[in-house]
Amino acid sequence: MNALAVEQAPSGSPSKHIDAATGFEISAEFQRFNQKYDMFNRAIWDEEVRSERSRRFFESYFTDLAQFRKVEGFQQRDYALRNAAWYIADFTADLLETTEDRKEGFLDTYTMFREGATRKSEAPPAVHSAELKRAGRFLGADAIGICDYDERWVYSHNYSRQHGSNKDIDLPPDLTHTVVIVNEMDHATIQTVPSALSGSATGQGYSRDIIAVLSITQYIRNLGYRAVASLNDTALSIPLAIQAGLGQYGRHGLLITPQFGPRVRIAKIFTDMPLVADAPIDFGVSETCAICRRCSSGCPVKAIPAGAPKFESAEAISHLKGVKKWTINAAKCFQFWVNQGTDCSICIRVCPYNKDFSRPFNRLLRWMLSNRWRRLALWLDRKLNYGKRKTAGWWWRRLPS
Ligand code: SF4
Ligand code: SF4
Repeated sequence: MNALAVEQAPSGSPSKHIDAATGFEISAEFQRFNQKYDMFNRAIWDEEVRSERSRRFFESYFTDLAQFRKVEGFQQRDYALRNAAWYIADFTADLLETTEDRKEGFLDTYTMFREGATRKSEAPPAVHSAELKRAGRFLGADAIGICDYDERWVYSHNYSRQHGSNKDIDLPPDLTHTVVIVNEMDHATIQTVPSALSGSATGQGYSRDIIAVLSITQYIRNLGYRAVASLNDTALSIPLAIQAGLGQYGRHGLLITPQFGPRVRIAKIFTDMPLVADAPIDFGVSETCAICRRCSSGCPVKAIPAGAPKFESAEAISHLKGVKKWTINAAKCFQFWVNQGTDCSICIRVCPYNKDFSRPFNRLLRWMLSNRWRRLALWLDRKLNYGKRKTAGWWWRRLPS
């Protein structure tokens, strides 16, 4: 455990000492989030959100119901690639849906594991942690961090779409740590957003996450410890990733990592393996977001707030209560997805942290964003047309044959 984390700060307060390092401001009104209120579940039960269009939107990921258009980026080949990229995520999510009311990775944790070892590996937590990170990178995680188990970010309830009711969270007791992984989403396809083609980056990111998170979970079980693999289900991934030192929170409501900016998908593993938690990091994201606003001005439906972080938001139902932050209007955002027939990542495309950081000049810009050269970096970002949309035709033509 690191020195920042763990015990509750003043008695009864939902705040913890680690909040000083993550920048989370949490009030006495804090409530754990109920999965029933995320937009994808509201699209099942909430008359304000559910529509024939939203039904067709979901079905387009599994069938040929997508409304192919002649415009670039929304043609049959684009939907074909998007749905192929989603295939592993959808296939694993659907395995136990009808028989056991489990939508693994999206509503419920994963259960598809072999029995682990009965004998526990005995090693100091620092050794376990270092070896876990080495193994995790080998098994497919692009970055990996560790935080203490923090129940604040675990949902109050899961949701059963079959029965339209709350379900109990099925995590075992006495978990001590959460291992968080991120995987990069493809940079080039995201440059074509809005397009069905860009949705391929989302599906591919999830599929890569699943391979890594299942494998790392089995590794921990093979060392004799309990481990539960989770994707979007069961707990809020972003605060856990921030506590695990993987990045900071952006105005667009996404994790911003130093390596890949906001272009990541997150998965996590709850475990009782003795580990050492990482410290949160600060590379100047909050200060950049305070003056940047590329995402709030670039969002076609103005779903991203342009002002300061707040405890309240316009879209109260899906809002996490008692945390001061930038909160996007999830209903407006989701409606845009439904209307265009695929997900949107414009706020990722235009973000100045969405860059290929293998290039030295982009690393220089990232460094400038962390200090007094920030305004110049943002000016250069605009002048050099970073974040400009490319056509899907450009992407298809640049592929090696
Ligand atoms: S686009 Fe600008 S304001 Fe929005 S998250 Fe990225 S850095 Fe922050
Ligand atoms: S995903 Fe698109 S619609 Fe949603 S907040 Fe980002 S830019 Fe706006």
